[in-house]
Amino acid sequence: MNLPNYAYFRGKIVPYSEAKLGVLTHGLNYGTAVFAGIRAYWNEEQEQLYIFRVKDHFKRFLHSAKIMFMDFDHSPETLTKLTLELLRKEDYRRDIYIRPLAYKADEIVGVKLHDLIDEITIAALPFSTYVANDTNAHVTFSSWRRLDDNMIPARGKVSGAYANSALIKTDAVKSGFDEALVLTQDGHVSEGSAMNVFMVRNGVLITPTITDNILEGITRRTVMELARQELGMSIVERAIDRTEVYMSEELFMTGTAAQIVAITRVDHREIGTGKMGPITSRLRDLYQQVVRGYLPNYSHWNTPVYETVKIASAD
Ligand code: PMP
Repeated sequence: MNLPNYAYFRGKIVPYSEAKLGVLTHGLNYGTAVFAGIRAYWNEEQEQLYIFRVKDHFKRFLHSAKIMFMDFDHSPETLTKLTLELLRKEDYRRDIYIRPLAYKADEIVGVKLHDLIDEITIAALPFSTYVANDTNAHVTFSSWRRLDDNMIPARGKVSGAYANSALIKTDAVKSGFDEALVLTQDGHVSEGSAMNVFMVRNGVLITPTITDNILEGITRRTVMELARQELGMSIVERAIDRTEVYMSEELFMTGTAAQIVAITRVDHREIGTGKMGPITSRLRDLYQQVVRGYLPNYSHWNTPVYETVKIASAD
């Protein structure tokens, strides 16, 4: 992986090599940190880098921070401004991934959230695909269970909670699968290790409700809007049983890093025809157009990084 040249660290942009923390840092030892994962897409024709739904990501980031008793004098707007400054300094001209992190910065021993120093870092690095096999993934139901809202809330992107995601992912990959789906304590489908899940049954798009211990995904919201507006589909948010997934016509996962991953097999059972279905395929195409700033109806989701947009000449 290519490391960044710079990072926002302790209130300013510094060379990445200077953005270092002591080994006793609270957030590192106890997982008392929250993060975001944002993508920016390079549009070659316009010579522009577009950050996708940056304000929505920072809104969720600040909500996650609130859950973890962090207090910042920041808004989604001020965090976006810092990110723009960082990206312009990096001068990226390719697809990238932005990682804001808020953490308990004290170098002390003691498990708690209160009376600690909160700090924010932001770094951005070149990025391409996250799930290698994103056109015909084979997934399994994990033997692990999703964390419950009363354990570590999945709706906050809390660093410590990602030990759960890592267990889910590694067991699946070591067993030969591309990814895993995970169930809630009461046996309903929740999500993937770092992505939400959708199925199509009888032409209706169905996804778990936000009370089934999912991260309230921004790609999930994007896909719901695109399916409704562009494909005229009905969308239902409800509890999903494991065997409904086996019987679905189409199945896919969504996430900022993962984008839209077509699942064609679950636990060695073919989904639908065993090939990526037409709805998944349409949504994948639409999503790529939207994130790269090609669909004017959704341009409010694209934040340009560079000041001048080169308009393609007519000849
Ligand atoms: N669930 C989990 C656990 C995740 O980590 C992610 C990735 N952020 C998602 C779902 C998808 O969320 P989003 O579309 O906002 O990236």
